[in-house]
Amino acid sequence: MAKKKNTEEPAAKPAGGLFAYAPAPESPAAAGDIAGSYGHFIGGEFVDSSGKEALKTVNPATEQVLAEFARGTEEDVDRAVAAARKAFAGWSALPGSERAKYLFRIARIVQERSRELAVLESIDNGKPIRETRDVDLPLVAAHFFYYAGWADKLDHAGFGPAPKPLGVAGQVIPWNFPLLMLAWKIAPALATGNTVVLKPAETTPLTALRFAEICRQAGLPKGVVNIVTGDGRTGAALTAHTDVNKVAFTGSTPVGRAIARQLAGTRKKLSLELGGKAANIVFDDAPIDQAVEGIVNGIFFNQGHVCCAGSRLLVQESVQDEVLDALKRRMATLRVGDPLDKNTDIGAINSAEQLARITALTEAGEAEGAERWSPACDLPGTGFWFKPTLFTGVSQAHRIAQEEIFGPVLSVLTFRTPAEAVEKANNTPYGLSAGIWTEKGSRILWMANQLRAGVVWANTFNKFDPTSPFGGYKESGYGREGGRHGLEAYLDV
Ligand code: NAD
Repeated sequence: MAKKKNTEEPAAKPAGGLFAYAPAPESPAAAGDIAGSYGHFIGGEFVDSSGKEALKTVNPATEQVLAEFARGTEEDVDRAVAAARKAFAGWSALPGSERAKYLFRIARIVQERSRELAVLESIDNGKPIRETRDVDLPLVAAHFFYYAGWADKLDHAGFGPAPKPLGVAGQVIPWNFPLLMLAWKIAPALATGNTVVLKPAETTPLTALRFAEICRQAGLPKGVVNIVTGDGRTGAALTAHTDVNKVAFTGSTPVGRAIARQLAGTRKKLSLELGGKAANIVFDDAPIDQAVEGIVNGIFFNQGHVCCAGSRLLVQESVQDEVLDALKRRMATLRVGDPLDKNTDIGAINSAEQLARITALTEAGEAEGAERWSPACDLPGTGFWFKPTLFTGVSQAHRIAQEEIFGPVLSVLTFRTPAEAVEKANNTPYGLSAGIWTEKGSRILWMANQLRAGVVWANTFNKFDPTSPFGGYKESGYGREGGRHGLEAYLDV
């Protein structure tokens, strides 16, 4: 197919002009002291690595090195698992109400220190302060509060009387919601009486290390939470460790597959939260302005670094033009830039590697014949940035319709009937989430039953709540996190 032109139109209503926003920067100093280098948190102490290798974490908005941290060795992982094992007997024997006290305490400290944590997360990850402050941190605290509430009610959770914890949980998390993914993993594990060794992602270790301080501040018994930093090799050492009883992994599908192979034939329990390629489906009777907000939130929230991002817009043909016009107008008002500016909608891409991945996939989209559009917007000179982008003329076979881009890039497809919408929405190896926009309640229920997705939002998108289970079908993984279901992953049921 002939290559179509890459269009970039001037904004119909520019973000600047008469109603330009004055910068409203949050102070980086609010992040508190960032040490020059970090070791691990094992047995309640900050300790050096047994190895010599150090990794660096950079601020993706400035490319400045924030800190060095240890690349955990097998020996480090072994020490951390031993500490968690030692702590398990005491922790699991505590009455649930006692464990709850620690979780409530952690939740309250997270709230008290939320500004510090939000700023630190924005600096290390590149996500806008508006999101870390208003989404990540409130949800982190909410997860600890929620699972604190379960700790003394496990007998009534529907898993039989006195359900038992599994033991030591090895948890590996990605960089897109560093502290929130930590909360999703640690809160249910602790509430159910397990102890944990958690490995944060190599580009975003700082909030996990700050969380280690919070564990100390909360007086959590030593060894109940251990944090070992490092890269994929450290993660693999943790998931392979023979004294780990449960592995919880959030990350990419290829790594999830490798872990499933590694664990096959062992007695370890495994939950996998992997990638996605969600369809956000807009019917002709949908409230269009509201749907456009939902499309924007679905794909541009957190720079599109969201496993459940609504990265495929399926719009009913009769309203295609109306939706696309409104969407482009809305995209032209998105402010891209300094993550610490409270006005910023889209922050920095997390790493140079991720930027290269997004760039390569969008180039493939153009090469395969889809038409690319971005609003005019100035990107900062240093740092990793990508304009909000949409592709029209996308066919189901295009890579940008099949592969997870994990960036601020929307692929637009159309449909005529609800049955066609279902068929196209399900035509992906993934099955994590989906969105439906329509005024008809009966259509919402019918669609939700047909869609092979773990989460289906109706007339909203990217809404998270600790009480609600989250997880995938097919190559998006298995097991559920959140809600009562999230307890099961950490109990011997
Ligand atoms: P990734 O799989 O490369 O890395 C995730 C984590 O796994 C990191 O901590 C990494 O160090 C570690 N790791 C890498 N190789 C490993 C190995 N062989 N064994 C054990 N651990 C290993 O993914 P990423 O690029 O960091 O994250 C992006 C991906 O995560 C996306 O595909 C996204 O969809 C997915 N994700 C899913 C969810 C969900 O809940 N389903 C949430 C967030 C992100």
